[in-house]
Amino acid sequence: MTISTLTVAGTTTPETTSPATTTPAATTSSAPDTRTTTATLVADDATDATFRRAQQRSERIEADLRVDPTAYRVVTGDRPTGDLHLGHYIGTLANRVRLQNAGVPVTVVIADYQVITDRERPGPLRDRVRALVADYLAAGLDPRRTAIFPHSAVPALNQLLLPFLSLVSVAELHRNPTVKAESLASRRTLSALMLTYPVHQAADILCCQGTLVPVGKDQLPHIELARVIARRFNDRYGHVFGEPEALLSSAPVVLGVDGAKMSKTRGNTIPLGADEDQTTAAIRAARTDGLRRITFDPVSRPSVANLLTIVGALTGREPARIADEIGDGGASALKAVAAEVINESLRDLRARRRELLADPGYLDEVLLDGTARASAAAGEALERVRVAMGMDYFGG
Ligand code: ATP
Ligand code: MG
Repeated sequence: MTISTLTVAGTTTPETTSPATTTPAATTSSAPDTRTTTATLVADDATDATFRRAQQRSERIEADLRVDPTAYRVVTGDRPTGDLHLGHYIGTLANRVRLQNAGVPVTVVIADYQVITDRERPGPLRDRVRALVADYLAAGLDPRRTAIFPHSAVPALNQLLLPFLSLVSVAELHRNPTVKAESLASRRTLSALMLTYPVHQAADILCCQGTLVPVGKDQLPHIELARVIARRFNDRYGHVFGEPEALLSSAPVVLGVDGAKMSKTRGNTIPLGADEDQTTAAIRAARTDGLRRITFDPVSRPSVANLLTIVGALTGREPARIADEIGDGGASALKAVAAEVINESLRDLRARRRELLADPGYLDEVLLDGTARASAAAGEALERVRVAMGMDYFGG
């Protein structure tokens, strides 16, 4: 199976059949192709059954979406803890844009309350939220089609939390591997907010009737719990919610320059807003191994495979084929290719981002409009919940 041919813009651009080259000129467009494929499935993590099932499911959902893009509602989001990075772009943002352009309804939650799950203070939220909106729009999200809103601005969303909390046990929350990993990484006492992270994420998704969530691998346990919550609510009170599904990209875990998951809080990122020199320097410093021959082997050579996966996702080409072309060029040739492809692919996005950041009034309008649409959806969801639970006292 080859890496898919649907670009973010929703137009079909088959992988080039001309002699392969890994120079930036080979980059077919600035839009990465990030649909999950069997190729990444086998190579990425052969031992993780949940992950494999999620990748297989993602492939089936991609097939469904080609038949009927309105069969799903996408809801997804990010924490405003810092600048968006290449992991976001390849792991989820490009999929959001592609799905939006294919006609799938998309809602993006800026998860501001979730910033304080693993830190004491929220930080410079206003600037970070605006920067997120600028990144979204620069990447191709269209505010006329896609609602973007901050979690804290939609009170009805948070009211869903109370019935949802009754549907999960404390033991289930303690078992959640992402809660465990993030709590450990924060080196702080586990707060009740962190423990209940997957429950408020379920409220984020279900308040907007989300059924499809483009995410990275780290989010799979949370989506699983959102499914459990939707199912248990429906079993107890009658059908109100669809069970949301995760949609993985072809790069479900983009690694940072230190070889761990690229993550805002680890400081190991290639930010979307970095300039070309900063990007080249960061890639040059990225961890690789000492083997001269470049091969695509995610299990025993994860850092090399990571750079190949990034180049593959951004150019719509097979990582193994890119490895063959670099051959005995070693890590320095691989890094030169990666830096050029990343800079080439992000050039337009970065220019649009700069323009958007210069107009904060417009970014705030986008948020206000998204908040109005999300509030209407969340109000309806809450009303259905109240009716289902017998709390519709004033409805006549
Ligand atoms: P933080 O360090 O604050 O948790 P983060 O970099 O992990 O930040 P999030 O806001 O937690 O980013 O994640 C937003 C979305 O981006 C989620 O769907 C997550 O799965 C996805 N994502 C984040 N990092 C990566 C990555 N390195 N590879 C693939 N997807 C990612
Ligand atoms: Mg995170």
